[in-house]
Parts: sequence; C-alpha cells; structure tokens
Amino acid sequence: MPFETIVVERPDPRIARIVMNRPEARNAQDLEMTYDIDRAFDRAVLDDDVKVIILAGADPHFSAGHDLRQTNAKKLGVDFPHISSWGGFAEPEAAGRFAREQEIYLQATRRWRNLGKPTIAAVQGKCIAGGLMLAWACDLIVASEDATFLDPVVAMGVCGVEWFVHPWELGPRKAKEMLWRAKAWTAEEARATGMVNHVVPRAELSKFVLDLAAEITAKPAFAVRMTKEAINRTLDIMCQNDSIEQAFAYHHLCHAQNMALFGRAVDPSGMAPTTLKGPRAAAE
Ligand code: ZN
Repeated sequence: MPFETIVVERPDPRIARIVMNRPEARNAQDLEMTYDIDRAFDRAVLDDDVKVIILAGADPHFSAGHDLRQTNAKKLGVDFPHISSWGGFAEPEAAGRFAREQEIYLQATRRWRNLGKPTIAAVQGKCIAGGLMLAWACDLIVASEDATFLDPVVAMGVCGVEWFVHPWELGPRKAKEMLWRAKAWTAEEARATGMVNHVVPRAELSKFVLDLAAEITAKPAFAVRMTKEAINRTLDIMCQNDSIEQAFAYHHLCHAQNMALFGRAVDPSGMAPTTLKGPRAAAE
C-alpha cells in the first residue's frame, strides 16, 4: 500500500529517510500520518540493508503537532492497524479519550522510541506540541538554526503533551519555565539543555544529518543497537517510563477538568485563532 502522508527516500542504501509530507498542514500529524509513520518505521526496521532511519519534514516546518480533524470516515481500531493493547476507542468521555491517546500518542511514541535501529530527527522551522513527541522519540536530534520548539498546551489547560519527557530533555527548572510560559525555545536553547545534538545552518541540515547517519552506518550494527538498548534501558531503570505514565494520568485529569468546565478537552481560551506563533496547532 502506498503512503498518503509521507515519502520514504533512500538517499543511501543503508539509510531510510521518512519525510512527513503535509506541508499545507505544516506536517500536522493526523491519523493517516500516525499509521503511515508507524508502517514506514516497521519497513525500515525489517529491511536488513537499512542501518539508520531519519525522520524529517517537508519544508517549511518539521511539524505543527497533532491534527485532530479526521477528514474521512476511518475509525481507530477498525480502519487502522493496532499499535497498543488498548481498545474501547469509541467509549464516551474519559474512557474513550484515554484509550485513543494511549493508542496514537503514548504507545505509538514509546514504540518509535524503542525501534531496533538508530533514528535521527532533522528539525527545521516550527516543532510544536505533538511535533516535539516525534522528535523526542528519535535517538538524535539535529536542528537548523531557525528551528523553534514549543509545547503550548498549558495555555489550553493541560499539563504538557502526552509524551511527557520535558524534565528529562530540558531539566526540571527549564521544563517548568518552558511549560508555564508556553514560550518557544530556540534551537540553541534546546542544544544548551542537551535536547538537541547539533544546530546547523538551514541549508546544511539535510547533508549534515546524512553525514551523521553515514558515520553511524559504518559502525557494527549490532553494537549500535545494543548501545541504544543499554541507554534506553538505563532511562527505564531511572523510571522514565513510570514518570511518563504518571504525567499521562495528570494529562487526562486536565482533559476531564476541561470537559467539566468548558465541554471540550482543552480550555478554549488558549485556542485563540493564532498562527504558528500560538497554540492553535497543538494537541488536545
Ligand atoms: Zn491529550
């Protein structure tokens, strides 16, 4: 089956590059894209020639977050493959929302974070909310100088996006400030916290990431994979997964509070009709 929302390139026989390709929607991640990415990751993992996977976005922006508008009649659990062990996606209120976000946000991101091959995110332009989750799922992040990163969902009455690794990526104090202010941080600020590996000029992003990927492909693949396992398991032993799970529960407490107060999962006052400078494109 062809992909609708992404393009998969092989700039080198050893490298698969998955390019999100909804530039008209600023590469916002809808259901189609979620499962296209998942399937492309699977193919790359199962292709023994591929040693490194790059995740990129068609210009001008990496990703504006989750796109909740479903333009066709496709339904979770019916028309898409199953990533998580959850069901009950059509249940009313909190039960259905919890199940859906387990499937398409929490479990999907965890699966991508644990892929058996090294992954590199190439980030340019805006990387907002769910876009952060895509970048954070990758092992390395390279940003262009113009890249900015933003989780604006506190302004919408929710305690950060569903994959809550902010304290791990930014450190606890910076994480609190970034979330409370709902303010974008620059590529250089992201590099300073350790979240981004390298910041390069926009025109050099693609080549820099390819060179970095090629360098990794030259190393023994099994040792590279075991290194990823060792580091990810170290984070697990440090309770990163438990930390994400507890924040996910708070995230849904916030959704429930917003439903009670406003009749929708987010505080509409934070959903002012702004452009990419504001929280409009972020996730519910
Ligand atoms: Zn949510």
